[in-house]
This record gives sequence, structure tokens and C-alpha cells, in this order.
Amino acid sequence: MKPVGLVDPRTGERPYAVLQLRAEDAAGAMYGLVGFQTRLKQGEQRRIFRMVPALARAEFLRYGAAHRNTYLCSPAALEATLAFRNRPGVFVAGQITGVEGYMESAATGILAGWNAARLARGRGAAYPPPETAVGALLRYVTAASPATFAPMNVNFGLFPAVAARGKRRRHAEIVARARRALDDWMPVFTEGV
Ligand SMILES: Cc1cc2nc3c(=O)[nH]c(=O)nc-3n(C[C@H](O)[C@H](O)[C@H](O)COP(=O)(O)OP(=O)(O)OC[C@H]3O[C@@H](n4cnc5c(N)ncnc54)[C@H](O)[C@@H]3O)c2cc1C
Repeated sequence: MKPVGLVDPRTGERPYAVLQLRAEDAAGAMYGLVGFQTRLKQGEQRRIFRMVPALARAEFLRYGAAHRNTYLCSPAALEATLAFRNRPGVFVAGQITGVEGYMESAATGILAGWNAARLARGRGAAYPPPETAVGALLRYVTAASPATFAPMNVNFGLFPAVAARGKRRRHAEIVARARRALDDWMPVFTEGV
């Protein structure tokens, strides 16, 4: 809800927070309020959401609810290729592996499918190094502590440490290193299955 880069066109001021409405139907009559998975009672949700000026007269069709992901204990069950350790020909991908988010789920789907095809053709397993975003996520998913494993988005905390000090410089170094690592790894990927 942080209004990064947004100003209110009527006042020129940066708002305190912004809410994102995502169209749920083609007619644009129904919208989902992004990021409102909540345990608040429905009456409280009605009361609080009506305080938002644009929602004062909205009709609420469905209320926010905290959802629960079902996921494998991947560090105990999966190789970095996303194949089961004890069933090498069976691959899994997406949020059931303990990744979170569209990009993360799609990336694991591409890699699992790519490795399944490589296995079928008798080629060795391959996956991006942990210095890349997808490699860092794969390392987390398949090598974190099984006892405390919980779903995760890609984030800077997953990457191997860098020497730079200060958040901004640390992040810049992680990004630069990730680009180099991905460039180095891309020939493996583009060579195909
Ligand atoms: C309310 C909400 C908002 C979200 N917003 C964002 C966001 O803004 N950005 C973001 O990056 N991520 C967001 N996410 C997370 C994102 O949706 C998931 O990480 C992503 O969709 C997972 O993709 P997936 O393909 O692994 O699983 P899913 O998208 O859940 O796909 C699994 C599919 O398998 C099907 N299926 C289940 N069981 C069976 C069965 N037995 N046989 C056949 N089919 C079956 C299901 O019907 C479903 O179609 C949000 C999640 C929720 C719940």
C-alpha cells in the first residue's frame, strides 16, 4: 500500500497509502481489493473499508479471509531440480513446492519441465546458481531447514552474502552479481533439453 511514485492528481500530494483494485469480471463491475487477506470479522471489514472514500458506497460481494497454502516439506523431499529425491522421474512446481507468487511459481514450472525433458533425453540435471534470483529461491526451497520451512517469495535475504555495506549498496551488488551469474548460466539454458 506504499504509494511509491504516486501523487494525488487533484492535490499534487503523495497520499498516505494506496489501495489497488483488480478487475474480477470483464464488465468491470466487480473488483478484488489486493492484499486484504485478513482475519477481521465481516462487520469490522465493512466498517473499516467504508472509511475509504472511494468505497463508501461499494457493495461488498465477498469479504477478505486469511488463506492457507498447502505445501510440501520440500527441503526434505525435493532435489534442486524439483524432482522428488525418492522418485527421480516425478517433478513438482509452483506454490506446492513452497514458493510464493506468480513469477516464482512460473519460474519453478519452467525449470521443472525443462529438467523433466532433460531427464527423458538422458541429459544431466541443471539449474541456475544461487547468485541468481531463481537459483537463490531453489536453494531455499530445497536446502532450508525442514523443521522451520515456510513458503517464500524471492527476496534479497535469500542470496549469498556480499561484502558491500549499507542496504542500497548491498542490493546493487547482489543485482549486479545476479546479472553476471545469469549471463554465465544462460548458455546452458538456451542450449535446450
Ligand atoms: C488472494 C490472492 C492474491 C494473490 N496475489 C498475488 C499477487 O498479486 N502477486 C503474486 O505474485 N502472487 C499472488 N498470489 C499468489 C499466487 O496466486 C500464487 O503464488 C500462484 O498462483 C501459484 O501458482 P500455482 O500454479 O503454483 O498454483 P495455482 O495458481 O493455485 O494453480 C493450481 C491449479 O491446480 C488445480 N488443481 C488443484 N488440485 C487439483 C487436482 N487434484 N487435479 C487437477 N487440478 C487441480 C487448481 O484448480 C489450480 O488451477 C496471490 C494469492 C492469493 C490467494
